[in-house]
Amino acid sequence: MFVYNEKFVSKKEGHYYSCPWIEHGLVFFSYKLAMCCHCGHEGSSQAVIRNNYIGQKIDWDRIFKIKDMFRKFHKKGKINKGCVSCPYLKEAKWDSERYIDNLYISHFTNCNSKCIYCFAAKHPEDFAKERLYQVLPIIKEMYEKSILRPGGIISFGGGEPTLLDEFEDIVTYLLDNYFWGIRAHTSGIIYSPALARAINEIRGYVVVSVDSGSRETFKKIKQISCYDKVRDTIRKYALQTTFLGRYLVSAKFIIIPGINDTIEEIENWLKANYDAGLYTTVLDIEENWYLENKNNIPEHIYKLVDYAKKRAKQLNTNFELYERLQNLMDERK
Ligand code: SF4
Ligand code: SF4
Repeated sequence: MFVYNEKFVSKKEGHYYSCPWIEHGLVFFSYKLAMCCHCGHEGSSQAVIRNNYIGQKIDWDRIFKIKDMFRKFHKKGKINKGCVSCPYLKEAKWDSERYIDNLYISHFTNCNSKCIYCFAAKHPEDFAKERLYQVLPIIKEMYEKSILRPGGIISFGGGEPTLLDEFEDIVTYLLDNYFWGIRAHTSGIIYSPALARAINEIRGYVVVSVDSGSRETFKKIKQISCYDKVRDTIRKYALQTTFLGRYLVSAKFIIIPGINDTIEEIENWLKANYDAGLYTTVLDIEENWYLENKNNIPEHIYKLVDYAKKRAKQLNTNFELYERLQNLMDERK
């Protein structure tokens, strides 16, 4: 489970290789508890803490003992096998306290969209599952026992968070208890007043996945006719932003070659974002296509990104590429 590698032996006093998730992270999955959800790199293990988890009482002492064990090995340059190639692993002076401040809530896959690129295409058996347990009582317990502290990131993954029956209550509870760093990726089909409050109070960050600049393309990708509804949700969230919080709402565009990879589509998407009052432009590239084509990327994909970047600058909006696409652009140089 832990492998020794000299390059992970820190020479700096009090430093060792670790990450914010090993130190202070917890992830709720459908059937397990883990330390992290970063499964995009080779050999990822998500650092599982407990399998067959469906809401049973948590033995916190055991969880922190597992984290302490990771720390003990990492201090000696013995790294968890699933973490070795992770970009989040870094050398730092970590505190050794026992608390959680990074939470990832991903114990459901229920969704109101049917994106053609969804992971469900690969694992349909895991898709559209209702949540198996309630997370809010666990969050309350953690907070009351001072296990959960503000300061990190609290994000939602899995399916569509606004479909969770406890979603509004979770976000409201966190806001009422002075948490910040609340993040949600959402289809935008349902408007969440709690998320709107989080944005308004500059404590929430929302990414709405649009992937298109027209109703037709939206329907092709999402397999559902909700373009106008989603655009309306984006406008309502954007209305909550103040000058300081103007980057807290964004509409994401995942480039899907053969479907939305045209200048016209990108231009319409950018203009709609601008008209809605968004100040952030976020682009990514479809994962499955990328994995199949990463050694032979057509020139027009680079040009599309260049165009979006140029237009984002003209519109005075913040330009952001997700990691995969950023790497692709960096490799071109
Ligand atoms: S190093 Fe990476 S894979 Fe390992 S726990 Fe941290 S974020 Fe997860
Ligand atoms: S919104 Fe997310 S979970 Fe839902 S279908 Fe699209 S990719 Fe899948």
